[in-house]
Amino acid sequence: MLICLMPFLKLGLSATVIQGVQAMGYREPTPIQLRAIPLVLAGQDVIGSAQTGTGKTAAFALPILSQLGEHSREPRVLVLEPTRELAAQVETAIRDLARFTKLTVAVIYGGVGYGKQNDALRDGVDILVATPGRLLDHLGRGTCRLNAVKYLVLDEADRMLDMGFLPDVKRIVERCPQKRQTMLFSATIPPEIDTLIRWAMQSPQTVQIGIRRSPAETVKHAVYPVAEDQKAELLCEMLKRVDYNSVIVFCRTKQRADRISRLLSRDNHAVAVLHSNRTQREREQALRGFRDGLYEILVATDIAARGLDILEVSHVVNYDVPQHPEDYVHRIGRTGRAQATGEAFTLMVAEDAQHMYAIERFIGQKIVRVKLENYDYHYTALFDMDKPGQPAAHERRTRGVRLSGGYFCGPVRKRR
Ligand code: AMP
Repeated sequence: MLICLMPFLKLGLSATVIQGVQAMGYREPTPIQLRAIPLVLAGQDVIGSAQTGTGKTAAFALPILSQLGEHSREPRVLVLEPTRELAAQVETAIRDLARFTKLTVAVIYGGVGYGKQNDALRDGVDILVATPGRLLDHLGRGTCRLNAVKYLVLDEADRMLDMGFLPDVKRIVERCPQKRQTMLFSATIPPEIDTLIRWAMQSPQTVQIGIRRSPAETVKHAVYPVAEDQKAELLCEMLKRVDYNSVIVFCRTKQRADRISRLLSRDNHAVAVLHSNRTQREREQALRGFRDGLYEILVATDIAARGLDILEVSHVVNYDVPQHPEDYVHRIGRTGRAQATGEAFTLMVAEDAQHMYAIERFIGQKIVRVKLENYDYHYTALFDMDKPGQPAAHERRTRGVRLSGGYFCGPVRKRR
């Protein structure tokens, strides 16, 4: 048993933590673990330029757990996360890895009562995973103190910036002791994060796991041009023909997510919805049901796109083209994880063409345009685009004829 864990043993992790690694079934450290673990063990501040799916949670959790020693009452580790779902997921991952230690973990986020969180804090906790808003509430009420924090992890820092949490994060950092080790993970380092790094970290070492601009190689992806009035119908038709296990359908707005989920339910699919207008209980129930296979389709807004570790998603459908190219990579990151292969389909209407080009520029590759075979398409100017030697459709007038040249007819398989 220990022989197959040699690569982890060589990193210098503690015996109880190695037991946790073994129970998780990990065999080899991922690249970010290989590079970040020795730095964290050496007491360095670390910037991890890496996305979720790279094993970054264990990259900071394993060396921290290895060094914490015995249980004590005040939080010595604080992990800040941008969303409740990520906080819950990271808490579970740390709890799993720490299961052979005596260390305790608690999670703190908004949208739920204070009771359980107060109890956990009163009982004494070693590792606290929290979203910024609720943590500040606890700090204000005096139910939580950060005076003993030795390890501070700012996870998904760019996401916290996007969500407007940076001022809250700064207030929280100010409540932590100056003498501490700080780790920051961010897929991108925009100037605001750079400023935070210079303010909150000391001589940090950067571990860059090739900012993954391109989606995982295990994902096959395709764009389905379609007229706006046929979008919903095309989605239903695709889902009839695709041989899928589990699908996440991403929509631009909460309203669209609700509408699409109703439509798919009417089409006899088992559907869960995840967006920020739903209560915490509904969100948890949706995620759990989807993970457990109760629902085959999860319709979500971008809140679910980053970080959520949902295994074995066979298909991602972008019902709407993401407006930010990075979001395409994040959304597609839900499929083709680890060794699994997945497929990612994007429905594109004419007004999304520019966003699609931006995505292709960002990932440095052209995504194949596909038409469903024997589907009665309404005309869209998109069908004239992307043919060799032709100007882009947005530069021409619509001619009102149906064309199908230049298209590849569906990789979509019949369902078993
Ligand atoms: P993360 O990037 O932390 O969200 O991790 C993504 C997934 O990779 C999670 O399901 C982890 O349990 C898994 N994972 C992390 N480290 C390893 C490893 N060394 N070997 C196999 N799976 C891992």
